[in-house]
Amino acid sequence: MDAAAGLREPWVVAIDGEAATGKSSLGVLLAQSLGAAFLDTGAMYRDATALGLERGVDLGDAAALVALVQRERAAHVWERVGPMWTLDEAFDQRLRRPEVAERVAVVAKHAELRGLMVAWQRAVGARRSRLVSEGRDQGRVVFPGALAKLYLIADLDDQVQRRAAQMRDAGHSVDVAQLRRALAERNEIDRNNALQMGDGAVPIDTRGREPADVLAHMQRVVLEAAAKRDT
Ligand code: C5P
Repeated sequence: MDAAAGLREPWVVAIDGEAATGKSSLGVLLAQSLGAAFLDTGAMYRDATALGLERGVDLGDAAALVALVQRERAAHVWERVGPMWTLDEAFDQRLRRPEVAERVAVVAKHAELRGLMVAWQRAVGARRSRLVSEGRDQGRVVFPGALAKLYLIADLDDQVQRRAAQMRDAGHSVDVAQLRRALAERNEIDRNNALQMGDGAVPIDTRGREPADVLAHMQRVVLEAAAKRDT
């Protein structure tokens, strides 16, 4: 059954929250269940960081980074449809490297780079009749007219566990204390940059809950928002 059959198109569902709260894994499942495309906007900032490191561009030089990203990428690269990465696995692994994770939040503070990313994210939104988009500023800045805005909340301990498991699965060794410090620091930088729960966002507290339960909650919020919009 197509759970989204009754939703008037086009629509966007925005998912925001701190690092490693399940935005991507649950977002992909939500998109799948609604027959929507999925956009991981964190991957865009990670890729800008990885490209800068690979090409020897000063990560503090916003203009050089923007030029590099514009030369090598385009908006459509980032779109995932259903459960599949448009990006291949090696590309994805490249974005998850610790040296990228350590620097991405500072790179994401460049206003010029954010401007480009926001424009690309909106371009994806304009091309898709159904889109689930996740990041830090998707509901508040990028898609203020989103059908539903979800804001995931998790404990730092859960965030550390989740990210450690992902890193081990990808074959990286994990220093848990160091990971904890890095995640706390990245969340702090993000809170002072793009991450805030905006008006109209629905907080979804994931603490102590099974992923399936959280997913069902997210689906319910979307369907209720659609019912409210259409009455
Ligand atoms: O979601 P993920 O952990 O992959 O995001 C990596 C980083 O990219 C975030 O910590 C944040 O600094 C930045 N980001 C952002 N705005 C977004 C998505 C991610 O600033 N919409």
